[in-house]
Parts: sequence; structure tokens; C-alpha cells
Amino acid sequence: MHEMTVAELSAALAAGRISSEELTRAFLERIERLDPGLNSFITVTAEGALEQARAADRRRARGEGGPLTGVPVAHKDIFCTLGVRTSCGSRMLDNFVAPYESAVTERLAGAGMVTLGKTNMDEFAMGSSSETSHYGPVRNPWNPDTVPGGSSGGSASALAARLAPAATGTDTGGSIRQPAALCGVCGLKPTYGRVSRYGMIAFASSLDQGGPMARSAEDLALLLQAMAGFDPRDSTSVEEPVPDYAGELDAGVEGLRIGLPREYFAEGLDAGVARAVEEAVAQFRRLGAEVREIGLPNTRLAVPAYYVIAPAECSSNLSRYDGVRFGHRCADPTDIDDLYKRSRGEGFGAEVKRRILVGTYALSAGYYDAYYRKAQQVRRLIRDDFRRAFGEVDLIVGPTSPSTAFRLGERLDDPVTMYLSDIYTIAVNLAGLPALSIPCGFVDGLPVGLHVIGDYFREGRLLAAAHRYQRETDWHRRAPAGFGG
Ligand code: GLN
Repeated sequence: MHEMTVAELSAALAAGRISSEELTRAFLERIERLDPGLNSFITVTAEGALEQARAADRRRARGEGGPLTGVPVAHKDIFCTLGVRTSCGSRMLDNFVAPYESAVTERLAGAGMVTLGKTNMDEFAMGSSSETSHYGPVRNPWNPDTVPGGSSGGSASALAARLAPAATGTDTGGSIRQPAALCGVCGLKPTYGRVSRYGMIAFASSLDQGGPMARSAEDLALLLQAMAGFDPRDSTSVEEPVPDYAGELDAGVEGLRIGLPREYFAEGLDAGVARAVEEAVAQFRRLGAEVREIGLPNTRLAVPAYYVIAPAECSSNLSRYDGVRFGHRCADPTDIDDLYKRSRGEGFGAEVKRRILVGTYALSAGYYDAYYRKAQQVRRLIRDDFRRAFGEVDLIVGPTSPSTAFRLGERLDDPVTMYLSDIYTIAVNLAGLPALSIPCGFVDGLPVGLHVIGDYFREGRLLAAAHRYQRETDWHRRAPAGFGG
């Protein structure tokens, strides 16, 4: 059962071949047995899951429910879940039990999905390796000495290990797509504003976007269908009708114009990754797409601009953790300054502190124009690059990550190399575009991700292209040794 996709599980549930309770028990048993070696979950909600599963079975028995009813899902621990700890991977929120439910988890629960638990992540979603969590690093099931990517590394690792058939993630600079690539699973970052950020703990609000992670493009479509839509509780949620993603899945790629940015196939890209991506591009050509080279000349400015904007926004967002209202509070404060300093000093880890310092500096009087305003101007240039490109092509294709999974600890003392892990994904967040990553091969036994970027609100086209590719290839069906069928 654990090898089946969401679509297959949905069909089996609808036909009465399995019950949600059986299915949920099977995944909970796998989590108990296999997760100690991976650390992909922070919290497992076994009891609640079984209750939800039984409720889903009753709904199905009455002939109610939809395609996701009774299908298990794991949520990144950045989404607030009513009555269940939401830690964001931080000591600061180790004791935080959310008093309300996020829009994403609420919608998926409303669609009948069963929550298995909350997945591990980089602290406050800052990272590319899932090593900065207060709960210890996550391991990649393809090789436990390597990282799963981050920050949604727990979700990606759990999917690859078949501990859950579906998961959620968030992507501020690549955190859905890069871990999906490194773990050989699929992940979609929707257009900014497509999925509500309500109840999703804020990192950098102008970049943060929640989205689905799964093992096929078809599954991403099913999940996005339930997650997407206007939400008045998120002021940047866009009032745009949600198309029928599943209905658009068979649109294919015939006649589509695919752009390959020459800047993406340059210095810094691993040769094996480049080969796998080129092979995938050849496959799209065989399927009838027209491939041409394009230019995104400001690509090299994306990481520097991001590392001004993201820390600036994070320094503001994280000022709410002051030891007063919620989260960690130091013992026996002597006065209010001592309370602030020690609560924040003890509650946050090193990477979060680095970002708060950088962001506070970039926003301070006299530096604002030099750094923050400048970065916003660069952000506009990057968006304009994409606008121009989407005048010429329908999709942009390249590698998701410059390398496959790297070894645990390897980049921890080298923040710049760590930051460059997201060199292909970050520009997409700066522009607010949708993009996905799907598996397209292996280098030395480790998965490679193919990055497909679409124009605003063209998630349907992205998913259709990925689905077409997955009908011809079986990279997305491969399981790491010891976790397969
Ligand atoms: N790795 C990037 C960072 O550390 C992106 C993280 C994310 O998308 N949440 O900021």
C-alpha cells in the first residue's frame, strides 16, 4: 500500500478495496519502524489520525467525500494545527500549541485527508539542508549520510521513505522544490497568492508560499486543487478562480515552447545533474515540445537580493517572539530587557540569529536605501527578465539544484555555499511565479530534480507537462533501498 500514489489510494478507497483506517495504521506502523533512522517527523498524531480515518471511512460508506477523503498526509511543522504543537523546528516554539488552524491544513482536513503528524524542518524554514532544526537533522533515505535538502526536508524524506503518500511544504526561496529534488519526489511552489498563508508561520512574507509535495504530478494536482483558492484572512491571497487541475492534466506538451536559460547551464552546475536535465529536455522534445535557448540576464543577482530581502522581512516577522506572549521564556528574568534578551538568545538557533542580525542591519536608518531599496530594485529586474521570457516561451526548464544531496555537516560552516544551493529556485520566489520539481534521473545513486517554471497562475500547464513526462519515465516510481515495495 505504501508504494501507491495518492491517485491510486483514492481509487482503492473509492472501490472499497482498502479502508482509510487500514491505510493509516500501515503508515503509522512504518513511521514507528523507519522514522527513527530519518527523523523526518517532529510530532506523530497517531490517535487523531485513526479517529480521522474512521470518520473518513464513515463518510465514504455514506457515499460522501471527495478524491482525498481518507488519504493520509504529513504537514510541515510550520502550519498551525489546532491543539497540536507547532514548533517551526525551533526551541522558541517547542511549547507552542496553536490556538487555531492554518488555511492549508484546514482545507486538506476539510477534503477528508488524515493528518499523520508534523514534519521536521530547518528552524523557521531558514536553510537548505534541514540540519538547523532544534529537533536534530533529517536524513535522506537515499543515503542517510546525506541531507534531504531544506527547509521542507522532513516532508521530502517522509515521502521518499514511503512514510506518507502526500505532504505539505513551504517555499520562500526553494524549500519545497530543492528538498523534493534531493529526495527524488515531486513538489510544487504555486504562484504567490494562490494558496493562503493564513496560519503559516511567517519567515519572509513577500516570498513565502505553501504548496503540495507528493510522488507524482497527478498527486500534486489533486492536492493543489484542495489547497488553492481565495482566503480573505490572507491580505495577499488572490481572488482568482481555481481551475480544474486534474481536468487539465492530459493537455500534454505538444507545440509548447520550452526555454532553457543559458545562465542555468553554466559554472557551478554538477556535470551529472546537467546530463540528467539535458536528457529530460530531449524527452520533452520527443514529446512534441519546441525547445529554445533564452536569457535571464539578472540570474546572478537573485541570491544576493534574496539575502537582503528575506533577512529583512524575517527580522521584522520574528520580532514577535519576545518571551512575553507565547513561545520560549527564560527563567527568572530580572527586568524586561533581560527577559527579551535571554528569551530570544536561548530560543533561537545560530542561523536564525544570523538572519535577524543581517536583516536588522539592512533595515536600519542610513542603510535602508543602500541595501533594502536596492534589493527591491533588483527584484524588479528579475521579474522583468521572466516577463520578457514568458513572451517567448510557455515554460522554462532547468535543474532544481546545482548538485545532488550533499553530506550532513558539509555546508554548515559555509553559509555562502549553503545559500547557493538555491541558486535556481530563489529567482522564482522573487518574481512570485509558480514552479515545480520532479525527479529526472540519478547521479551516483542520488536523485536529480528537474525544475519547470511557469507563468503566473499557469500551474495547470506546469502539472500537465510534468504528468506527460511521468507517463514516459519512471524516475518518480523509484524507491530508495529498504523503503520500497
Ligand atoms: N534556503 C533558503 C533560505 O535558507 C530558502 C528557504 C525556504 O524556501 N524556506 O532562506
